[in-house]
Amino acid sequence: MLKELIDKFYLEQEKRKEQVRFYVTDAGKCRRAVFFKFKNAPREITDARILRIFEHGEHIHRNIFNILYRLRIGVTTEIPIPQQEIISGRADAILCIENENYVLDIKSINSMLFRNLIQPKEENIYQIQLYLHYFKIQKGILLYIDKDRQEMKEFVVNYDAPMVNGLLEDFGKLKIKVQENSIPERLPDYPKNWQCQYCQFKDICKLAGKELLNWEDFKIKIEEKKATLKEK
Ligand code: SF4
Repeated sequence: MLKELIDKFYLEQEKRKEQVRFYVTDAGKCRRAVFFKFKNAPREITDARILRIFEHGEHIHRNIFNILYRLRIGVTTEIPIPQQEIISGRADAILCIENENYVLDIKSINSMLFRNLIQPKEENIYQIQLYLHYFKIQKGILLYIDKDRQEMKEFVVNYDAPMVNGLLEDFGKLKIKVQENSIPERLPDYPKNWQCQYCQFKDICKLAGKELLNWEDFKIKIEEKKATLKEK
């Protein structure tokens, strides 16, 4: 009874999230999946349990913010990137350690991923690079926390202008695809890529196939598929 009410609460919150801009966290993600998010395409519903796990991650971040303030090194926390045309995002914190500024990005991950982590994940590097770019800071820290055992690993990342230019160029190209209603290609190693395993759009991605498609035409195909399923 109560469990169902709590689950419903989480699922309602999730439904309200409609994407109208790119987010820093979209960097390095499958372009087709980001496109589908923009178009509010039919997706698999995220389990309420997973949403609670995400929320737990946010509590871990808050605990770290608290320590940063007490250490007097957290200059500011949860700072939105300066407004510009293409991307939104919020860095976890900007720190000052021994007179040098750093952007901090905290990632809480499970024990298995944590144990195997010997270098920062590629998509996390992309994200922190964008924060460094927009805040004009040369160094960042990726802090990984094992959410089951509370151990930590940190990696210092230096600003890499060519990498940022490449990421911004990719966002620019994807923006055009969104405006032109042109569904991007799927990942070259579909469906083996890890992103496909967790993708909320895998059903419609399969339906779209590997061809380049117009979104308006594809919407008709989705409706036809729905109608066929109803008849069965
Ligand atoms: S299933 Fe894979 S290729 Fe298709 S949208 Fe999702 S992540 Fe992209």
